[in-house]
Amino acid sequence: MTEIERSLRNKTLVVITTVNEPYVMLVNESDPSLTGNARFEGFCIDLVNAIAELRHFRVRFVECGGYGGIDPVTGEASGMVKELMEQKADMAVTDLTITYEREQVVDFTMPWMNLGIGILYTLPQKEPPQLFSFLAPLSLEVWLYMAAAYLGVSVLLFVVARFSPYEWDVPQPCRDQQDVLENQFSLANSLWFTIGSLMQQGSEIAPKALSTRMIAGLWWFFTLIMISSYTANLAAFLTVERMVSPIESAEDLSKQTEIKYGALVSGSTKNFFRDSKIAAYQRMWAFMKSARPSVFINKSSEGVERVKRSNGLYAYLMESPQLEYVLERNCELQQVGGLLDTKSYGIALPPGSPYTSSISNAILILQENGTLHALKTKWWKERKGGGMCKRRAKKSPSSASELGLDQVGGVFVVLLAGMAAACAVAIAEFAWRARRLDPTTQVSLLGEMARELQFMLRSRSSTKPARHRRPHIILTSTDLTVPSPSTS
Ligand code: GLU
Repeated sequence: MTEIERSLRNKTLVVITTVNEPYVMLVNESDPSLTGNARFEGFCIDLVNAIAELRHFRVRFVECGGYGGIDPVTGEASGMVKELMEQKADMAVTDLTITYEREQVVDFTMPWMNLGIGILYTLPQKEPPQLFSFLAPLSLEVWLYMAAAYLGVSVLLFVVARFSPYEWDVPQPCRDQQDVLENQFSLANSLWFTIGSLMQQGSEIAPKALSTRMIAGLWWFFTLIMISSYTANLAAFLTVERMVSPIESAEDLSKQTEIKYGALVSGSTKNFFRDSKIAAYQRMWAFMKSARPSVFINKSSEGVERVKRSNGLYAYLMESPQLEYVLERNCELQQVGGLLDTKSYGIALPPGSPYTSSISNAILILQENGTLHALKTKWWKERKGGGMCKRRAKKSPSSASELGLDQVGGVFVVLLAGMAAACAVAIAEFAWRARRLDPTTQVSLLGEMARELQFMLRSRSSTKPARHRRPHIILTSTDLTVPSPSTS
């Protein structure tokens, strides 16, 4: 045992602290029976007690407002740093970051936890389901290329089939007359053949020549790959709820002004942006400084609340261990991007304190024997609702596997539109045919259609008498004279 350790024995050290969950918390603010050290609990309280036990001293915790530091303009000290400088306490323990500025005026022990600055933000919003989401698996570009490929291959099939002598056949082989040949790949049939395979349905038309078979084979291969890719991606698109997050990193934050962001008013996180030489962080500092109403927060818990209430319009810059603690308990929040820096928490002592190295050694012992790790598990995972989000995630197994009308409604719209277009075309076909068969008819188109519908309802047969084009007869007056019996 060293001289210093001996001098520490049974001494009562004044430990100043700032309340911040889960490092230092008030057990029950409204309970007057709690006095002295019993009022406090948390990671740092346990840490100091463990050190005190190792070094055989006693502690008296005193609450002190703010972390503090040295104002770069006025040079004035504030918060716990000021108390230590004025030798009003023996130790300052909370989530106190070791910084160059503080190190100049107070002593720090070995670090007891490492950290970095992270961004706390709300979970990405669920993308509202879109009517035409069935188009989403392929990009617009691919859809256009597919349409172009469909038209191109159809036209090529038509041209090649005309060209190839093996696609020209005798229409009725039983007849003697062999001078008429027929080609099944008219332009319309070529289009029908290719769309049939694209839709995985096929058609009655089959290529006979090697060249046309090659075109058909390759087109089938193309459709096989495209349809399988589409199907696989569609399943992923429709079952996985897609999330959209407007920001992915600090860089994203710095490039926009709609989402506000801030940090603790008296902490080292704010100073990190103030002193940074990195352009993005300088932009962020300028934005934070000039924002009205102020984006700075007096207590970390207020920052977390502000993120929760802001509907995605506020992000809070905070240190990673506390961020981790908040995420364990607030399932609607997330960390955006990685950490912006790396640093550590340490215990601060008055400048030139004789106890610094003894307490540093105690911290090393606690770190090596696993006490620090156990304390972190206790306060982060086990106490005060830790692990809540994990449990909640397990309770509701993916409910996204069912497809609602919201997701597939667009296909119905396309189907209805297609059906309506087909009816319109059928009416046009009917009108066209009716006028061609009988150009002089006095019956209106509606009348003709009504007649056809009546026939359809009356007869179940799939055959009907053929209507032939009526010859255009011009009657003369002689045609109208009734033949006399004598002449017949
Ligand atoms: N750990 C910080 C400090 O020592 C306070 C928290 C913060 O600034 O985010 O100043």
